[in-house]
Amino acid sequence: MRLSKYFLPTLKETPSEAKIASHRLILRAGMVRQASAGIYSWLPLGLKVLQKIEAIVRDEQIASGAQEILMPTIQSADLWRESGRYEDYGKEMLRIQDRHKRDMLYGPTNEEQITDIVRHAIKSYKDLPKNLFQIQWKFRDEIRPRFGVMRGREFLMKDNYSFDLDEAAGRHSYNKMFLAYLRTFARLGLKTIPMAADAGPIGGDLSHEFIVLAPTGESEVFYHKGFEDFDAMGEAAVYDKDLQPLVDRWTSLYAATDNKHDAAACPVKSSDLKTGRGIEVGHIFFFGTKYSEAMGATVQGQDGETTPLQMGSYGIGVSRLVGAIIEASHDDAGIIWPEAVAPFQVGLINVRSDNEASTKAADALYAEFLKAGVEVLYDDRDERPGAKFSNMDLIGLPFAVTIGPRGLETGIAEVKNRATGERTEIKLSGVVKHFAKP
Ligand code: ATP
Ligand code: MG
Repeated sequence: MRLSKYFLPTLKETPSEAKIASHRLILRAGMVRQASAGIYSWLPLGLKVLQKIEAIVRDEQIASGAQEILMPTIQSADLWRESGRYEDYGKEMLRIQDRHKRDMLYGPTNEEQITDIVRHAIKSYKDLPKNLFQIQWKFRDEIRPRFGVMRGREFLMKDNYSFDLDEAAGRHSYNKMFLAYLRTFARLGLKTIPMAADAGPIGGDLSHEFIVLAPTGESEVFYHKGFEDFDAMGEAAVYDKDLQPLVDRWTSLYAATDNKHDAAACPVKSSDLKTGRGIEVGHIFFFGTKYSEAMGATVQGQDGETTPLQMGSYGIGVSRLVGAIIEASHDDAGIIWPEAVAPFQVGLINVRSDNEASTKAADALYAEFLKAGVEVLYDDRDERPGAKFSNMDLIGLPFAVTIGPRGLETGIAEVKNRATGERTEIKLSGVVKHFAKP
């Protein structure tokens, strides 16, 4: 993409309403534009990142055996009356009436909707297990939307729902998601800690939140320092074995958010206990028959008896992750994208667009990048070099390749690693090869 053609409305000034780095940076980098409180339009650069996150989330869901569906954003209130949550959910639910005065709502989550689908389609134990996921917009009328896309009112969530015959099988489905979440966040370049959580309005008694440590996190968290040696990247995507030992290992060390932590009852000695702040990026629940019983989602077991389905539900805040990743990875100059979610892998800077030889060489390099399938953003604008460098730092592409008249004389381009700041010189003829994936 040529920057001269790209729709990238970056801001020079820091927006005053933005209190934390990720909010400032998504606005300054022209990734999103606020439409109204907690509701955002996604602009090309932001959408690219959102879609990359989505792709990794989807990939790990599919690897775990879940199947993708897409449910509507607008749901019928009647389903929620069946589960008893229509009244319970309170003011966070956006309630709508259609022209026939039927009560509808913009879904804040989809337990009722999926239970309705499944109760009509799954009748026998032979149809189990099933795990269905979607990546769909949700609406929650948060009392205090803030921190940009981290706490929006409209936000993109991956949600899925598991259906099993008995508790042991349901527990296995839960464990599969536990592993899928560890892998998903690790691939996104994040270090997360699973913490025992209260199930809240979803119900049930088995629940974990996946928390990214960041100084601006909304909740205070407490965890055993041993977590610093845990590495989710090392967890293989093997799902057809007993996953309890893996879950036990990851939950053997103490970790709790402030609403669960009790200093008096904390089993960790203070020299081993770390305190920090965290951002919840995922939350998993096993709640058994809460919805299946209320809504009549049953199957015939092997012995012919009718039993309610065992269910779990699982959520990842896909749009929140855009902010969470920036919180975990930025500096004073701007964003530092992990390669896995970077909107482009390489920024190409022609320092002298007024110089014919420099422009010719940069154009040629750009064409070569495109041919090699490297995602490149080419700053071909007629701007001062300083403005180009700071713009690249702001939008945070992993690498910036610079060419100008001086390098041309020696046939050299400079490559800067955004994360480390390290600069290396590479022969012009070898630049694209350096980045092309074999
Ligand atoms: P929180 O405690 O942050 O309000 P929650 O516990 O109400 O979140 P869940 O119902 O567990 O949220 O939703 C699953 C995931 O969706 C959360 O882990 C979070 O990543 C994301 N999420 C929830 N609310 C929002 C929001 N208002 N804006 C963006 N993402 C959200
Ligand atoms: Mg939650």
